[in-house]
Amino acid sequence: MSSSISEGMIVTINYALRNDAGDMLDTSAGGEPLSYLHGAGNIVPGLERELSGKNVGDKVSAVVAPADGYGERTGPGPQPIPRAQFPDDADLEEGMQILARGPSGQSFVLWVVGLDEQSVFVDHNHPLAGETLHFEVEVVGVRAATAEELEHQHPHGPDGHHHDH
Ligand code: ZN
Repeated sequence: MSSSISEGMIVTINYALRNDAGDMLDTSAGGEPLSYLHGAGNIVPGLERELSGKNVGDKVSAVVAPADGYGERTGPGPQPIPRAQFPDDADLEEGMQILARGPSGQSFVLWVVGLDEQSVFVDHNHPLAGETLHFEVEVVGVRAATAEELEHQHPHGPDGHHHDH
């Protein structure tokens, strides 16, 4: 029995992601394939849409505009935060996400985009915001999600629950 990719399926893919210049941004090659829950926003909307209706063995080339990817780049660009505002043991590195708290207590994600002696540079844009994304994808698995996976809105590994929420 084979099933096409549709909402509520756990989909496993091998993928390569390049930018407009052809530079490799991310790939599953040499590591584990990626599994995601279709229809749950686990992956960028443009790629999710391209994969709908596909089957195991299908190869998909998708060009995803920023608006259907990680969004358009907005705002003033990277802002410095004094290192002194971070705990001494904070393990800060470029590309990581930090959770910040706004004036009225709402929390939001910032990306660390640079570091120097005094400052941590942060931006609210995803590092791939503004990029046109060029995906090469091979579908290697499609199965129905379990009730627990649907409840959590993400896939679990073959041995059940691998994380702690
Ligand atoms: Zn879970």
